Amino acid sequence: MRLYDTLTRSKRELPAPPGPIRMYVCGPTVYSRAHIGNARPFILAMWLRSWLRERGYEVTLVHNITDINDKIYAAAPGASAERAEEATGWYLEDTGDLGLGMPDALPRATEYVPQIVHFIEQLIDGGFAYPAGGDVYFRVASFPDYGRLSGRHDHEDSLRNPSQEEEQNELKKDPRDFALWKGHKEGEDTWWESPWGDGRPGWHIECSVMAEELFGPAFEIHGGGVDLVFPHHENEIAQSRALGHEFAEAWMHNGMLRFVGEKMSKSLGNVRTIRQALEDWGRETILLFYLNGLWAKPIDYSEEALRQAQARAETFREVFRGPSDGAGEGEWERFAAALDDDFNTPEALAVLHSWRDHDLLRRGLALFGLDSLAEQVDAPAEVVSLAERRRDARADGDFGAADRLREEIEEAGWIVRDDAGGFKLVPKS
Ligand SMILES: [Zn+2]
Repeated sequence: MRLYDTLTRSKRELPAPPGPIRMYVCGPTVYSRAHIGNARPFILAMWLRSWLRERGYEVTLVHNITDINDKIYAAAPGASAERAEEATGWYLEDTGDLGLGMPDALPRATEYVPQIVHFIEQLIDGGFAYPAGGDVYFRVASFPDYGRLSGRHDHEDSLRNPSQEEEQNELKKDPRDFALWKGHKEGEDTWWESPWGDGRPGWHIECSVMAEELFGPAFEIHGGGVDLVFPHHENEIAQSRALGHEFAEAWMHNGMLRFVGEKMSKSLGNVRTIRQALEDWGRETILLFYLNGLWAKPIDYSEEALRQAQARAETFREVFRGPSDGAGEGEWERFAAALDDDFNTPEALAVLHSWRDHDLLRRGLALFGLDSLAEQVDAPAEVVSLAERRRDARADGDFGAADRLREEIEEAGWIVRDDAGGFKLVPKS
């Protein structure tokens, strides 16, 4: 099994099963309903865990919840903790409704503050960080490899922190330095004690600490959206490797969801939440939409793309309505080869579409949470009774009545098809 790794810019071979494979995938900052683009790293991680387990790996997936952040203070002044709690519930509910199960652990930053403080103390002791006016900053000059992940190490100007996340502070010794701890500011309604005064952890340190608390100093895969490469993941590497910890071996960055050709963000005013997408399209359509995209590439969210995914769902349901037709030799291997080569889900999807073997198809779809497409839904009794009356009307040669009954059946959300045994009722898609 090979996966593309951002750090070495190459496909890397995973260790042989059973591994273990420990995966840490950056999760959401919780202050509102998560947008549909946020579903991509979640879905990818859940599918990859499912495939690796199928291949005999022991996999542990950790997905963090960032519940301390400037965005939360801004979204709910005076009630940030309550908002974070509420929005965590929304995220778990919305991702839960995708029907893929849940990661093995969902650590929250607020649960790890003492460990974060301890980690920062070690960085200060080692000369990699310094306190300044109630804040603590990472000293980027102390870590020569800084910028390797993002390929920015030769371009000093592009390494400046602040990015949006970091605040200006004239006490910073180098514009590249970034905050590990932020002193308490007026208007922030949560804070924790520390040797540097009351305050709260920066965003980047939380992931270094939680990954190492749950996995130890080395683990196999770190994932997240490609927008996290710099500065978030660059900073995680600096924090952990400065202390001599190996940290993540391979870095997997999923492409962004683009909405009408643009990267989707709240500031553009084109938000579609996971919840809204679930209500508009249903989970199967959303999953098939993502399945048809290469995980490392951008994916365009449009009405047309979703309609295509919806049609795919119907195509699969139709296969299960027909007779099962045994697949030839080596079909599962053909499917596996696509996934083993950098988890090529569009290619695997094409293989699934070529199958008429119900057992094989159900097994393949189940890996992506789509075995529900095999379930036949029974029509309600009143629709069956309409179909029986229509059958009798046709037998009597009363085709006018038969047509009116067909319309009634359609209005009830069903399509009636004549077959050798009489009729068959299929839900309208
Ligand atoms: Zn993170």
